[in-house]
Amino acid sequence: MSDAFRISLTDLRHQEGARLEIARTIPAPETFATDLVRTVGDIDLDGALQSVSEGVLITATLEHSTEAECARCLTTVEQDHTSHVTELYFYQNRAKALQEAGDEEAEEVPLIVNDTIDVESLLRDTIVGQMPFIPLCEPDCPGLCDTCGERLADLPEDHAHEVEPEETNPLDELRAKLVAEEQGK
Ligand SMILES: [Zn+2]
Ligand SMILES: [Zn+2]
Repeated sequence: MSDAFRISLTDLRHQEGARLEIARTIPAPETFATDLVRTVGDIDLDGALQSVSEGVLITATLEHSTEAECARCLTTVEQDHTSHVTELYFYQNRAKALQEAGDEEAEEVPLIVNDTIDVESLLRDTIVGQMPFIPLCEPDCPGLCDTCGERLADLPEDHAHEVEPEETNPLDELRAKLVAEEQGK
């Protein structure tokens, strides 16, 4: 857990409707990755906090970049992404009241702890959740040539390897002819 993801609510009035603009640049941690795709550089978060009766609502836009290896041609693919997050962080007493009222989902809601919200898992789930299972440089990437291993997208459309016809040795032909003549005598 990193402090970079903790947002203090000290400057937000705890009164329904109060709003606070937030903007952060957070270096992408190594955990924001799958086996094949990783987040690189910084994550830019831009949005607002809003006091509501149950807690604090965050709505924000995320900008981040990812790096992956194309599953077919192995080219490194860098991409920029923009996504939106919305999450309600509950006051602990509100979450408790909901649990006591029999709301089982209230056990799982994110909480406000020490007047702070921690957006790490919100951001990680959002960013990692959008990562492709099979990263491709282009949706129709043709992959690599079976014969020479070059990237087919970089090669001319008619790229092909000629199968060399088996060369016949003129001397062998002559020998065969002579043998045939000899036997024919
Ligand atoms: Zn590719
Ligand atoms: Zn080839």
